[in-house]
Amino acid sequence: MTEQIQKKDIRALSLAELKEIFVQMGEKAFRAKQVYEWLWQKAARDFEDMSNLSKSLRGQLNTIFTINGIQINSTQVSADRTIKNTFKLHDTHLIEGVLIPTTERMTACVSSQVGCSLTCKFCATGYMDRKRNLNADEIFDQVVLINQQAIDNYQIPLSNIVYMGMGEPLLNYNNVLKSIERITAEDGLNMASKRITVSTAGIAKMIKKLGDDEVKFNLALSLHAANDVKRNEIMPINEQNSLTALAEALKYYFVKTKNPVTYEYIIFNDFNDNLEDAMDLAKFCKHVPCKVNIIEYNPISFANFLNASVDKTEVFANYLRKQGINTHVRRSRGKDIDAACGQLAVKEQQ
Ligand code: SF4
Repeated sequence: MTEQIQKKDIRALSLAELKEIFVQMGEKAFRAKQVYEWLWQKAARDFEDMSNLSKSLRGQLNTIFTINGIQINSTQVSADRTIKNTFKLHDTHLIEGVLIPTTERMTACVSSQVGCSLTCKFCATGYMDRKRNLNADEIFDQVVLINQQAIDNYQIPLSNIVYMGMGEPLLNYNNVLKSIERITAEDGLNMASKRITVSTAGIAKMIKKLGDDEVKFNLALSLHAANDVKRNEIMPINEQNSLTALAEALKYYFVKTKNPVTYEYIIFNDFNDNLEDAMDLAKFCKHVPCKVNIIEYNPISFANFLNASVDKTEVFANYLRKQGINTHVRRSRGKDIDAACGQLAVKEQQ
């Protein structure tokens, strides 16, 4: 084994654990707090940057610990100003993170896993294997780097974060929650929980767990079909997590958190764009307070889906609105680059 592998990832430690190690090293506990602030508040990637520590302590930390920071591997900028990155992890795996600027928001879309174990038929990541979960610090780093990109390119910091990149966040539950804790903590990035949305393909028992943990961030469910036959066809996870099971989990979640839920609905040509589909969706919307985002599809070469027509999308959205459902149509972003989830990382790994 190399020396690098034997070093401990310092960001895997809590502040209490770090303090304990510092005391064992004969250092004052407040030094641990200083290091912790360098890591999570100032996002330092090198012990040498920790200028209020002595040179010898910096050297000592460097022999015991590593900071497994992620790096930008490649960047594509779309004509609509969307910026898509691949990030290289310390073990050379690639993941994706996207900056989506609109007139009202500056949103980072981050990944939670390398690849994905779910096999949604319309998604490029669904055609990759899941290699591993991301650590909390690797999710945190995406936010830091994309925020810097927002400031450098558009002079506006991030306003929102969505966990909607590669992977199923609720299958990496602890690290996702720890990353949000560090992003929202006062001694972290100090961003508001209400500005963060975790998007799931629908794992009923983990939705209930979010309820038990009384989370403060927003939950989105990638629904895409509100009838089990169609949903099974495009999202095999639905076979073990039927719409009835999801509805029950969402009701539980709502009772515990009082948070309304967002349903994401990619509208595919001649698959889920008819009036009956809108009626199924309106029925599903009765379970808990919610809003619906109808999303234009960004086709990928592996799948046989096309985007629904503008007219049909409008009829669909208007039906929902007439039922009193808060409905938005979201145009696909970054169409001229590989901005559909997983496209860029799949291409760069080939
Ligand atoms: S849509 Fe999300 S959950 Fe489904 S395969 Fe893609 S990354 Fe995984």
